This record gives sequence, structure tokens and C-alpha cells, in this order.
Amino acid sequence: MTKPKKAKSYQAPRGMHDILPEDQKYWRYLQKKAESLLEDYGFDRIDTPILEDVDVFLKGVGDATDIVSKELYTLNTKGGDHLVLRPEGTASIARAYIEHGMHVRPHPLKLYYWGAMFRHDQPQRGRYRQFFQFGLETIGDASEAVDAELIFVGWRFLESIGLKGINVQINTIGDQNCRPAYIRALRDFYKARTKKICDSCRERIKENVLRVLDCKEPGCRTIMQEAPQIMDFLDVDCKNHFRRVMEFLDAADVPYVLNPYLVRGLDYYTRTVFEFVPEDRADGAPVLSVGGGGRYDRLIELLGGSKTPASGLALGLDRIVAELKERDISVPDTVAKPKVFLVQLGDAAKRKSLPLFEEIRRAGIRIKSSLGRDSVKAQLRIAHRLEVKYALIFGQKEALDGTVIAREMETGVQENIPLEKIVDELKKRLRE
Ligand code: AMP
Repeated sequence: MTKPKKAKSYQAPRGMHDILPEDQKYWRYLQKKAESLLEDYGFDRIDTPILEDVDVFLKGVGDATDIVSKELYTLNTKGGDHLVLRPEGTASIARAYIEHGMHVRPHPLKLYYWGAMFRHDQPQRGRYRQFFQFGLETIGDASEAVDAELIFVGWRFLESIGLKGINVQINTIGDQNCRPAYIRALRDFYKARTKKICDSCRERIKENVLRVLDCKEPGCRTIMQEAPQIMDFLDVDCKNHFRRVMEFLDAADVPYVLNPYLVRGLDYYTRTVFEFVPEDRADGAPVLSVGGGGRYDRLIELLGGSKTPASGLALGLDRIVAELKERDISVPDTVAKPKVFLVQLGDAAKRKSLPLFEEIRRAGIRIKSSLGRDSVKAQLRIAHRLEVKYALIFGQKEALDGTVIAREMETGVQENIPLEKIVDELKKRLRE
């Protein structure tokens, strides 16, 4: 006899994960918190498609960045379009800003988004191939106050959900006037040390030398301590901009540290860059930033719009949920618990159960049922597990009489109630 073939067991794609019902409360909570804070600060929601034309990222983010050169999920459509799953939100917002002629709207334009991003990276703890971000963009304002406001709102959000002790790291990377001299100095410095740095950094020197400062290899980190620092290359305008960002943060009591090696992975940043980094972990595992952002004064122009200064921030929701869990921070479950369970028995009752359920639901009473089940015992067991206050037992006899039995779960006391009175009766008893 041939053995039956074992069915293939399917899994979510590598680096992607399901969000199970028991975890939904975290996501609901974060979304609610974010929405109320962002509305207070005058940000309007925008949603863009998950797919974009590849050029939005090639031109906007730059092909010397990891997320574009190595990590894009690409898709050639039957119609001949070359699309990608978006790896981040800002370039899409810039594309939408230009496409919809948003430059005529009152500025600064303050927008926020929430959604899945995709990067074909090496999956590991806290690094997924599909992850969720919510982000803020303030478009049309070059002032340092905007950068400080974004940092403040991001930090406030993290604090408001109980993530204390988040380190705000900030830096500036200058602009197109002063950065080229710094890049030359950095390249010369590393070219003289190619033997001492890792293979990836040797590549980075050619393509995007700033990224060398992102390297986590111990050897490269030691050498970095002696590398030239951007502060010594800033022109007066960039220096003043950065100084004033810090003054704003001081005035708002946002604790921050200056990290001269913070450059961030994307090409489009100018001047201010920042990251939100949790405190060191007790288990010594590397800490992962929960958010970051910066000013991107040239992005809209790079995508074909007019010269428009802008600044933004993105927070990584998967990492924030992981932090909440690791720190044992409980979040309220905003879905109200059911108060009533409808137990039905027999065909006539089962058929009338749906309208009865609907009537009670419409009266604003949280009710559950299990219409597929026939056994009263099994249904009462579920009612018990759900910790409802009342079980309504609706059998053949009750369906004919036009009544229903209300059973108080705690005492087991049962009472027959006419169907037309059940809503009022439940309302009264649940208020007590
Ligand atoms: P970025 O868009 O790279 O500036 O990232 C902003 C934030 O998104 C980070 O601070 C992380 O919290 C989150 N993030 C970025 N990449 C990933 C990833 N591969 N997996 C999970 N979260 C990520």
C-alpha cells in the first residue's frame, strides 16, 4: 500500500508575519493614539497605493541606497509597467503631492500615512520584509521649527504609549553646498584605509561613502571614531539651522543626543536627520531604532516638482509593538467585551436567531453567538468562557411561544421573557 503523501505545509513568505487576533489590540491602540495626536497637531491622512512606478524610488530615494539597489520587490506587469512594492512612504507622498498639484494648497501641508512597506532585506529580529510604518510629512516649510516639531511629535507619541527612555539621536548632513567637501574628505580618509574596512564598506566608498558611517562591523566602527565629522564642514546656514533645531528641542524639553555619525540610509535627506533609539537592552542584544526621519528639501524637485522644502518622520510599528510586549506594557483592548450570548436549539429557533441577534446588536448590546452549533451544553461553555453576564436560551418551545430564557451566568437563575421585551429587559439588567 502506498503511503498517503504528506500535504505541503504553507507558511507566510519569509520575513513576513501574520498579526493574529490576540495581537490586534496593540495595533488598534497605536492607530487610535497616533490619529488623535496627529489630528491635534494638524496632520491630515493620505493613502497612496502599495505599488509605485520604480522610477519614483530610483530618482527619489537614489539607486546607491540599499533599499533601492538591493531590497526592492519588483513587478513587471502584463501591460509592460515596471512597478515596485513601496519600500518607504515619503517618495510616494512626494509623487502624490506633484501629481495632485498640492502646491496650490495652504502651506505647510501636513500629511500622515499608515501602511505596509516592503524591503527584501535579510530577515532577523526586528527586521522584516513586510513591516508597517506610520509617517508624517510637513511640506513647504524650510524652517528648523518644522524639524523640531516632527521630532517632538514623534517623541511625544512614543512617550504617550508608555515607551519612556527613548533616545533621540540627531545630526545634520549639511546640504548640496557644504556636503560635497565633506564627502570628498570622508572618501580620502577611507581610501587611505581600504585594507582595514569590511568588503561592504569598500563598495560603499565608491557608491555612497556616507553609508560607511552606518556600518556595524566592529573594525569599521573603530576606524570611524577618527573619521572627519560633518560639523567641521557645515556652511553658516546649515550650522545655524542645526543650532536652532537644538534650541527648539531644548525649549520643549526633548532629551536628545548629538550623534555625528548618524547619516541614515536614504539619499534624499538634507540637513537635519534623527532617529528614535530605545535604551540598551538587558540581554545585550543590539537595539533597533523605532523611528527616524529628516529634512528632504530636494526630493520633490528630483521627482519633477518645483523646489519645495520638506521634512518627515517614519515610525516602525512592528518594532514598537515588540517593545511594548518586551516591556510588559499592557494596552487597553478597545473592543468591548460581549455581555450576552445567544444559545439556540432546534431548526425553528436557529432560523429566528439571526433576526433576534440583529435586534439586540442594533440596540447597542454586545452579543455573541455560535449559530453553527447545536448542543446547548457546548454553547453554554462558550458563554462561560466569554464571561458574559447573560445567556439567552432560545429553543423550539420558546420560538413557538415567542419568548426567550434569560440565564444569569453567575447565579444560574433563569427567567422566561417575551421576545418583544427582551431588548428593554437586557438594557435594564445590564445597567444595574
Ligand atoms: P527608515 O524608513 O529606514 O528610516 O525606517 C524608519 C523606521 O521603520 C525604523 O526606525 C524602523 O522602526 C522601521 N523599519 C525600517 N526597516 C524595517 C524592517 N526591515 N523591519 C521592521 N521595521 C523596519
